[in-house]
Amino acid sequence: MLETLPEWIHSQHLAAKRHNLIGQVAVSKLSQRLCDNLYSRDGYVQINWQFILDNKKRPTIYGQIQAQLQMLCQRCLTPLTNTVNNEVALVIFTEEPSKYEKIPPNFESIILPNKPVSLFMLIENELILALPIVAKHEVCPTNEFQLKDEQTDDFIEQDENPFNVLAKLKV
Ligand SMILES: [Zn+2]
Repeated sequence: MLETLPEWIHSQHLAAKRHNLIGQVAVSKLSQRLCDNLYSRDGYVQINWQFILDNKKRPTIYGQIQAQLQMLCQRCLTPLTNTVNNEVALVIFTEEPSKYEKIPPNFESIILPNKPVSLFMLIENELILALPIVAKHEVCPTNEFQLKDEQTDDFIEQDENPFNVLAKLKV
């Protein structure tokens, strides 16, 4: 069992101390902003984030975020588990970085004040970015709905294909 994560962290201090933050938080502790996207608040989010200074002495977060989020399939309307297993790579600035600040490839910049900030908010941001725009099973468990969906796709294709209109005219 992983340790429960603190809600508030001082990211610049953690980076100066090269702190490794490993732990978990219940999805139910996260805000409505994330939970609006979910079918249920079951489960945990796990992180393993290394707070370090990069070669320009900028505070940086590098690590992994993992979660199994319960969403609703938009095709068959039954629950599905969306597995998040993403890399987190952030260079921390206290204000909007200038155009000349170089961010390493695969890193993003994030603006955080030089004071305690909500770790839960950072976690939510990463999860929201990781969620699919439309949640769908790869193969829906209910064949009946799957069939309906295929029929719908066919219908849309026919409608969008201008040659179908021509075909109708020829008749
Ligand atoms: Zn489905």
